[in-house]
Amino acid sequence: MTILRPALIWALTSGLVSSTAASQATITVGGVAAKPGEARSGFIVVAAGVDAGTEIPVTVINGTKPGPVLALIAGTHGSEVAPIIGLQRVRSRIVPTDLRGRLILVHVANLPSFLGRTVYYSPVDGKNLNRVYPGKVDGTVSERIAHAITTEVIDQADYVVDMHAGDGNEALRPYSYWSPLGLDARTDSVARELALAFGHDHVVVDTDRPKDLARSLYTQNTAQLRKKPSITTETGALGLPIESMVQRNYEGAIRLLRYLGMLGGPREMVTAPTYLVKTEVLRSPETGVWHARVEPGHTVAQNAVIGVLTDYFGTVIAEIKAPFAGEVLYVVGTPAMSKGEPVGMVGATGQ
Ligand SMILES: [Zn+2]
Repeated sequence: MTILRPALIWALTSGLVSSTAASQATITVGGVAAKPGEARSGFIVVAAGVDAGTEIPVTVINGTKPGPVLALIAGTHGSEVAPIIGLQRVRSRIVPTDLRGRLILVHVANLPSFLGRTVYYSPVDGKNLNRVYPGKVDGTVSERIAHAITTEVIDQADYVVDMHAGDGNEALRPYSYWSPLGLDARTDSVARELALAFGHDHVVVDTDRPKDLARSLYTQNTAQLRKKPSITTETGALGLPIESMVQRNYEGAIRLLRYLGMLGGPREMVTAPTYLVKTEVLRSPETGVWHARVEPGHTVAQNAVIGVLTDYFGTVIAEIKAPFAGEVLYVVGTPAMSKGEPVGMVGATGQ
């Protein structure tokens, strides 16, 4: 509670707390309805269709004064767990009477992947939830989850943050994705500010996302195309809720709430960001056993060896080299490797 004390003082001294301050409407997300001044948790039900149904655990915190709607989404990839634990911390510490506007927490977007402990893909339909947006009401379960999040969460939000981490197999240094699409100047510039408010000093600039509303593919991109400023954050690694990464997710959420004026307290922005305008995801040319030779955050020269792939017996069958000089953002840290899968990502500040 300590971190919210200044917000409470701010709210009290600015007259925001009042017994009659219920000046905004009830908000309903799936089966969860919260009146002004209430925090409620429950589920968006994803009904059975061509395959089994699932549910999406959400919390809705409705403030007592008007303000924007911020949606924080964790667990799009179920083994990216630091954001999931970070949002539990947010839920336990945000008091509705401290809040302007409404906060939607999606605790675990992809419950089949979380409970099945899979990386990248759903254990039910084999699809990557972050490649099937805006989803389909009559599709497979990943598509139905995407449709539910698009209609229940993104459509009701003003700002959307999709909170990822290194997946269960990925070692990663924290960074954020900012995707200026060049379609709406306000959306692009506010999204950049969200990235700086969240707190990661490394920002990947991706101008290559689809511009077709019907094939938006990514959570973040679905929001951006609807003129809702949005970022993707990467905070955590290797399927572990490491305390420092859980806390960075929590603090990122608080920093965003302060930036948006939804909580009192100082607005902090990253003042010297590193914009990575050139990035490449390196992929494995064969199936085999992966041996990383670098760690996240390492700087590498062009052609530096990122790692080697061996056959199952230990004979080297491929070397993966950096395509240009830059920094390692993530690298696969576990041995299992299939042809075509990512082995890591390198970013650089210049073209
Ligand atoms: Zn992810």
